[in-house]
Amino acid sequence: MESRYLRRDKYGNLIETPKQLFQRVAHAVAQAELQWGTDKDASCWERRFLDVMMDLRFLPNSPTLMNAGTPSGQLSACFVLPVYDHLADIFSALRLAALIQQHAGGTGFNFSHLRPKNDRLHRTQGTAAGPVSFMKIFNATTEYVKQGGKRRGANMGILGIDHPDIEEFITCKRKEGNLRNFNISIGISDAFMAALEQDASWKLIHPNTQQVVKKIKARQLWDLVTESAWTSGDPGLIFLDTINTFNPTPDIGKIEATNPCGEVPLLSNESCNLGSINLSRFVDDHQGQTTLDWNGLAQTVNIAVRFLDNVIEINNYLSPEMRKIALGNRKIGLGVMGWAEALSKLEIPYESNKAVHLAERLMKFIAENSWNASKGLCKERGVFQNWEKSIYYPNSPVRNATRTSIAPTGTISIIADTSSSIEPFFALAYQRQHILQDETLEEINNSLIRYMQRHQIEPSVVTEHIQQTGTLSGLVSIPEKMKNIFKTALEIAPLWHLRHQTAFQKYTDNAVSKTINLPKEATREDVDFIYKTAWREGLKGITIFRYHSRNSQVIQKGILS
Ligand code: UDP
Repeated sequence: MESRYLRRDKYGNLIETPKQLFQRVAHAVAQAELQWGTDKDASCWERRFLDVMMDLRFLPNSPTLMNAGTPSGQLSACFVLPVYDHLADIFSALRLAALIQQHAGGTGFNFSHLRPKNDRLHRTQGTAAGPVSFMKIFNATTEYVKQGGKRRGANMGILGIDHPDIEEFITCKRKEGNLRNFNISIGISDAFMAALEQDASWKLIHPNTQQVVKKIKARQLWDLVTESAWTSGDPGLIFLDTINTFNPTPDIGKIEATNPCGEVPLLSNESCNLGSINLSRFVDDHQGQTTLDWNGLAQTVNIAVRFLDNVIEINNYLSPEMRKIALGNRKIGLGVMGWAEALSKLEIPYESNKAVHLAERLMKFIAENSWNASKGLCKERGVFQNWEKSIYYPNSPVRNATRTSIAPTGTISIIADTSSSIEPFFALAYQRQHILQDETLEEINNSLIRYMQRHQIEPSVVTEHIQQTGTLSGLVSIPEKMKNIFKTALEIAPLWHLRHQTAFQKYTDNAVSKTINLPKEATREDVDFIYKTAWREGLKGITIFRYHSRNSQVIQKGILS
């Protein structure tokens, strides 16, 4: 918090404590209440907002924590910008991306409208650079904008599977260091998956003329994708037809892209404000019996939805187009963090049907309560402006076109001192690389320490073992049950990772950001299986990462090793 979030004066001295940070945010966000209510209403909600944040039950996305109540006032984490096939348009997108990143937001683009590399340019008689070349310019911009020194910017680059440059795009991140400020995803259509299943050939099509530029076996492209993902973690997939089936405002536009980590499919110029509920804070311990506090959860969801709707109101928009569509659709993305910690407190292994069923039940509950909260706000404040053009018209007046989304919570889960998003524990002892400073942070899993206290297990042998290996595997002196509860990401079979993602996606309006972490020994066939299953199960996107497939990764298991 000190290096990234707490405010400083112009000499670099800290001028805020964590409590003052939450007070600043609660106050700024509660100001929106004055449009519909009294001073008393605003201070009442300010208190509630402060309570949920101070208790670490709910935290908004980083830009809100950094910028609410400051001159920046840019509070959203996620943006999608259109990139059209004209030089001026490409650089307009770049200009906006630089501004968004300067204010701590992340940007996603679909580059499929750009004409392919070496295409003739009529006006200048030259040849086109193509999508991958332009991405290098976007990447360099991010490199030097660095989000006000607070974090590195993030981009999502997407290219449709039928773009003539798709082969170059699929492999563009294989070499370590290339396009390092981008996550890349292939925009997959159902038609492509059908061609793959039938082992048919696939047409690469010029985006402007619609002419077929090349025919290639679907399988050949697919193998290139899985091979690249196996080699370097990129590309992921985004399933554009699935996404558009759930597009809440199809008459406003088609969705072509997501934000950097994939959890929010958005229309051009659209943004989304995220916030996450810390599930581990809703597990109560009554004399050794742990239960979920459903009432507390419902109350927090209600407060969080109001908080996020207020953010839309007080947000500083960086262009008139962005303001128009944000106010038009009022998308918010309430999600969760601390899932693995909550499961460990409930003593349920991640790798179990019980965990997957609970995931569904929990997210259904959050979705229903978010829906009710948004409907309640609609009564007070009205429907979102594009409601008449949405799938909710005419029977379901609601305030927000989307309400839920599961973000990676990369930083806010560290502030909340819990496991990130819906991920299993990465390791029980680990070294985390500070991404801005040359510093590693060493951590031991708190839930494990508490579990050992609760079950009177002598910690020294366990601690020594996990410092060396990061896991409980191979330790003979502890109960099997404890080993199952504390299984880590790389020990958990990929199918179980997918089951959790699918369970949460079932009740999430936007998408679920999840990395299927694989051990180093995982094969290309494993990647093939995971990517195909993800599409079949109706996921909106999929990402894998094979341990040590890149030399630099932000988190390493074990401490002494
Ligand atoms: N994001 C970004 N830069 C980063 C990390 C995240 O721009 O270094 C954006 C990106 O759009 C991502 C979203 O923030 O999808 C949410 O990421 P996360 O939940 O990890 O952010 P946190 O709020 O925990 O910082």
